Amino acid sequence: MAMGPQRGATGVLIVTGGSRGIGAATCRLAAARGWDVAINYAQDEPAAERVAAEVEAAGRRAAVIRGDMAVAGDVLSLFQAAARLGPVTGVVNNAGVIGAAGPLAEAPADMIAGVVAVNVTGAILVAREAARVMARSRGGRGGALVNLSSIAATLGAPGEYVWYAASKGAIDSLTIGLSKELGPEGVRVNAVSPGLIETDIHAAGGQPDRLARLAVGTPMGRAGGPDEVAEAIVWLLSEAASYVTGANLRVGGGR
Ligand code: NAP
Repeated sequence: MAMGPQRGATGVLIVTGGSRGIGAATCRLAAARGWDVAINYAQDEPAAERVAAEVEAAGRRAAVIRGDMAVAGDVLSLFQAAARLGPVTGVVNNAGVIGAAGPLAEAPADMIAGVVAVNVTGAILVAREAARVMARSRGGRGGALVNLSSIAATLGAPGEYVWYAASKGAIDSLTIGLSKELGPEGVRVNAVSPGLIETDIHAAGGQPDRLARLAVGTPMGRAGGPDEVAEAIVWLLSEAASYVTGANLRVGGGR
């Protein structure tokens, strides 16, 4: 039997925030490894359509589905729309926002609430739908959920994004608890904690120079690329990680 990186079952994969950054890289790599991909986005439809074209160029099927993961109804309709591709066996809980960098004492309440709404409440609701569609006792086929945490959950992001770090701490707890809850259901639940990764999120936080400034002080002396994070995510989704659940894989260049 052929063994290799493409070993094992694939199926329909949902990626929240699949239009840009780590999510887009995950959609592309997952398609190359045999997944059909439901690509969720919030605003940037042209970017999502470009990712879909790349998924199809890899010979897989793609669906582009708009939805704000901070809105419970949008989470439900994302899963309903994705099911048109077939039974869902993989979910990447990736959509995330950071807020505007600064000390916590200066942070507006509505900004903090907005980050928590996407990164915590939204991610928990996505995980809930993943449990509902994949759990064997509910008629699902089993599968894998990968939650995007951050090394900020353990470093704390002082002076920059303490609220964001706290939101990722919630992802770590979600991963621990849900992995135990869904172990008997044939659903593996893991987290990936990226370090400094070259995406738009840093400019969105008002710090376009953040990577250049901080990367030199890291053990590997550079920022990571979204493709390097996608490798970890797609491995955790795959049957190659068949006995891995409840893990939190740091992809942080030693930081
Ligand atoms: P990014 O480049 O800013 O892309 C964010 C993606 O999430 C976009 O596709 C965006 O969609 C989508 N999104 C944002 N808010 C959404 C919402 N409410 N509903 C649905 N989709 C939404 O971010 P990234 O750097 O790739 O980050 C991806 C994940 O990795 C996040 O959870 C982030 O916290 C985590 N992470 C990133 C880093 C890093 O250094 N980059 C480090 C650690 C952890 P639109 O295109 O439509 O706006």
